[in-house]
Amino acid sequence: MPDAPRIDADEILEGIRGLVEIETPTGDVEGIGRLVTHLEGKFAALGAKVERIPGSGGQGNCLRVRSPWGGEQPGILVLGHMDTVHPKGTLAERPFRIEGDSAFGPGIFDMKSGVYLAFYIFQHFCRLGRETPLPITFLFNSDEEVGSPSSRSHIEAEARKARYALVVEPTSQSGMVTTARIGSARFAIKITGRAAHSSGGHREGRSAIKELARQILVLEDMTDYEREITVNVGIASGGTGVNVVPAEATALVDLRVPSAEIAEAAISNVLGLKPFDPDVTLEVSGGLSRPPYVKSPEIEALFQHTRTLAAEIGFEITDSKSSGGSDANLTAPIVATLDSLGVEGKGAHTDFEQLYISSIEPRARLLFRLFETLS
Ligand SMILES: [Zn+2]
Repeated sequence: MPDAPRIDADEILEGIRGLVEIETPTGDVEGIGRLVTHLEGKFAALGAKVERIPGSGGQGNCLRVRSPWGGEQPGILVLGHMDTVHPKGTLAERPFRIEGDSAFGPGIFDMKSGVYLAFYIFQHFCRLGRETPLPITFLFNSDEEVGSPSSRSHIEAEARKARYALVVEPTSQSGMVTTARIGSARFAIKITGRAAHSSGGHREGRSAIKELARQILVLEDMTDYEREITVNVGIASGGTGVNVVPAEATALVDLRVPSAEIAEAAISNVLGLKPFDPDVTLEVSGGLSRPPYVKSPEIEALFQHTRTLAAEIGFEITDSKSSGGSDANLTAPIVATLDSLGVEGKGAHTDFEQLYISSIEPRARLLFRLFETLS
């Protein structure tokens, strides 16, 4: 009798390397397409139902995969993103390499590792000749790093069909999973004043930059660290010449909020900004980009279940609230969601991005047990 297939960390790392070596910066339709083809082939070879979802607005395709078992009943949605923040050519500068317990490469941590881990566990069930109690849908999107504009509606639609959402983002804290994330909103502000010569016409001019300066103070003052609200005017611009009263000024604003109620109030404050100068017009566009991911009783129960599974495997997990967003923000208002189920490491979005090889096996086993026990 041959030995039963086992979860093999070296094999997983080799598979992750295969994904890292296909560069996929967000918006690189060709690169993303090559990764879709790569994954599609691997899943299809196991009999899974694969489907490409066309990207829109310049984003690459997404890949949706359904387990061949389980039919149409609500199941497990596994979410991961294929895009990375690293521009094309990064791989040539910093190829995959191993140093001690760390494996390096562009996007290896955030999050080629999680995508491969999800595939591998599915493959493991197939190798064992087993099925999971619930059907599994994998959705790998192409635009998470820019807020999932093209894939959002597909993620939400799959969340509505699912009983659980498992997001395989990585984590930089040992033994940590995520059960809450701050929400975010984005706004563009456009101010129109009246141009005039800066000397002779100054009195007739209406400075859009002056108006924007006042609005920036109002916006930044909405920050309330106690209540976990932050407002950042990240980009401001305006004017056409040093001797011209500026007729136009614009700003881009990022708002972070911990709950739906706070989000609603803060967003209406931003959308309700009024000009100080009655001769100036002020337009605000934008709104919620990622809703807050709040730990519901269902999410707490899913976490407790996961914690028990980890303890059985032999490690301890804790949960935490993240100050960053992910696609878990999109699913959590709809379905019980657990995030950061990928590998451990550090340096997301940096040139020292790395995963810890020793975290691969326990994390893989945890994901396997979740697939095996969620019903
Ligand atoms: Zn990520």
